[in-house]
Amino acid sequence: MRRFLATTFATALFATGVVGCSGAADTTTAAPSEDKSNTKVLNLYSSRHYDADKEVYKMFEEETGIKLNVVEGKSGELIERVTREANNPEADVFLTVGAESISQLNDAGVIADSTSETIANNIPEKYRGENWMGIVSRARVIAYNKDTVDPSTIKTYEDITKPEWKGKVLARSSSSSYNQALLASFVALDGQEKATEWAQGVVDNFAREPKGNDRDQAKAVAAGEGDLAIMNSYYWALMNRSSDPEVAKVTEKVGMIFPEKTHLNLSYASVLKGAKNKDNAIKFLEFLSSEKTQEFIAQENGEFPLNPKTGLPEPQKSWGEFTTQDLDFSTFGKDKPEATRIFDQVGWK
Ligand code: FE
Repeated sequence: MRRFLATTFATALFATGVVGCSGAADTTTAAPSEDKSNTKVLNLYSSRHYDADKEVYKMFEEETGIKLNVVEGKSGELIERVTREANNPEADVFLTVGAESISQLNDAGVIADSTSETIANNIPEKYRGENWMGIVSRARVIAYNKDTVDPSTIKTYEDITKPEWKGKVLARSSSSSYNQALLASFVALDGQEKATEWAQGVVDNFAREPKGNDRDQAKAVAAGEGDLAIMNSYYWALMNRSSDPEVAKVTEKVGMIFPEKTHLNLSYASVLKGAKNKDNAIKFLEFLSSEKTQEFIAQENGEFPLNPKTGLPEPQKSWGEFTTQDLDFSTFGKDKPEATRIFDQVGWK
């Protein structure tokens, strides 16, 4: 897939160059490809980076005949790029992760109305905003050691701050956007004071200095370095199906607790303002919101679908029903600077 996408993008760039340089002189050859590219192309920027997405792109191309040109990059870099290109946008659609990205895109004024009747039918209002549509979500939950922890004793995020867990809690660094979004959600819902109390309580219970990524927290729980850890459930799902038996074995020892008011981190899709292939952009968002695509991503990437008609695959189904925070996904990202300040204050490195 990687090769295929790279090839199509290179071809498209080349074609654009040819039309731009010699279109007037050689209209007989340039015109058809120009026509074609105007109607059958979609330019996509994405800060998601999963094999499942590449498959989804391929499925979309096969179903619609619309050729996708994909540029993957880090969220901040791509946001900077679309802001720079605002007067003459090169991309039609932007896929990104995390509430802070969508508030930055809205602040920059570079995204446009991203809905249609089909999208409104597929994705609940809570997961749509002005200028964006939620694609899928991942839950930030509590990993626990099955041998040493009775999961019924942990019902909330606050529970991991209790004194009985002193020296037992593992977390990654506060520079993680996932941790920043989690704390920002507490600021948005419970206020700065309670959010600070929670962060301080976690720091007081640290088993070690924060380090590693989400997967490393699960590995550390399995290795007995701590009993509890904060991580995204989709990594558990990806580890569970890993072809590396050592990685898969971790999930035998580590369970997932979905606390009351579980924090969800959304992936977002937006049509860019002034998109040259707007109709194709909406078609792509509709495709992403469809049961078929949602089910595929949930299956392949361990995330949660947002289209409620979509069936849940395993292991998500085995985790059962859980409640989620009542967040405004358009705006809570604005509390990220406050979250960063709190992390510094409590010494969460
Ligand atoms: Fe991730």
